[in-house]
Amino acid sequence: MIDQNLLSVVQDFGSPVYVYDTEIMRRQYDRLQNAFGKVKQLRIHYAVKALSNISVLKYLHSLGAGMDTVSIQEVKLAIEAGVPPQEIIYTPNGVSMQEIEKVAKFDVRINIDNLSILEQFGTQHPEIPVCIRINPHVMAGGNTNISVGHIDSKFGISIHQLPLIKRIVENTGMRVNGIHMHTGSDILDIDVFLYASEILFKAAEEFSDLEFIDFGSGFKVPYKEGDIETNVEELGEKLSTRFNEFCKTYGRELTLAFEPGKFLVSEAGKFLVQVNVVKQTTSTVFAQVDSGFNHLIRPMLYGSQHLISNISNPEGRERFYSVTGYICETDTFANNRRISEIREGDILAFNNAGAYCFTMSSNYNSRFRPAEVLWHNGEARLIRERETFKDLIRNQKMLSF
Ligand SMILES: *Cc1c(COP(=O)(O)O)cnc(C)c1O
Repeated sequence: MIDQNLLSVVQDFGSPVYVYDTEIMRRQYDRLQNAFGKVKQLRIHYAVKALSNISVLKYLHSLGAGMDTVSIQEVKLAIEAGVPPQEIIYTPNGVSMQEIEKVAKFDVRINIDNLSILEQFGTQHPEIPVCIRINPHVMAGGNTNISVGHIDSKFGISIHQLPLIKRIVENTGMRVNGIHMHTGSDILDIDVFLYASEILFKAAEEFSDLEFIDFGSGFKVPYKEGDIETNVEELGEKLSTRFNEFCKTYGRELTLAFEPGKFLVSEAGKFLVQVNVVKQTTSTVFAQVDSGFNHLIRPMLYGSQHLISNISNPEGRERFYSVTGYICETDTFANNRRISEIREGDILAFNNAGAYCFTMSSNYNSRFRPAEVLWHNGEARLIRERETFKDLIRNQKMLSF
């Protein structure tokens, strides 16, 4: 999308607004698929939590993606979007046995990540096959917020507990149809990923009824200049070869599955805001926009750096700004950032606003969640209306005093 298109989205739908470009989602999907072209059966399950608008789910499904879900509500969204249950995998963490049983009734694939539920589920439903989430205890780069493979992580069943898993499986007579890992959100190093994969292959050898091995995600996309991105082509080349070898020794063609969120949608999204006030203090020039961490919390939550450009004055002389929001809380989007001269009323565009942006939004300060727009075939279509005051009071009850 060019700046002119983005400006017309603001004109037509107001600000703040999220806009997602299907062309970029398709580019990323094709890239991943081509990288693993040598694998006979590849499944890409899109991680719904990254961006869960049903139009986005429907679009990605039209490309061939299944869905990776972490709650019963995400399962229902995927079904709502027309995804067949068999193409949905449910990978929850710390949810109740009751919820897992409800999801199992939808006939989606179940991924279990703790021994307690494995034993309960296997005892009560030995006829329902399950996938097992292994924690290989590998730190695939990044900082500790997002590397979930390490020793004290709450995710997955430790690889060291493999004997216990096997005992439960044997005692209950349950069937294990998949082995899974998800080592976190930043694979910086392909060799680390391949190392973790070897641990997964070792675990896979212990189960004779597998249909798939799910390598999770963690593909890194660039956020700012100079950022490293996962070389999926190199990973694809190396892992495909190794996977095909494994299938030979295993004696059956298995499906190789991934569940990328960020990789598919991060770069497809832009968040557009309007500048309310330019405030010069003794040390800083603040550009305060009609948003805050109620709409985009990643910079404050994990210090992520979203590139910001002034699309209504792209030729303006660059100056240094701190871009902040309008809520009553520190909500700094960017500190000391070089941006073309900002005037009140200008429209700023945040890059990489597809993943974990809208889905983490809230009503803090009783503000409305933004609208969402899909840019598809050169046309902007509204896929979620901006909230209204009605939405804020919808579930509230006013008592009389
Ligand atoms: C969040 C999540 C993903 C997606 O991670 P990205 O970094 O967005 O690719 C994949 N699998 C599981 C189990 C997840 O929880």
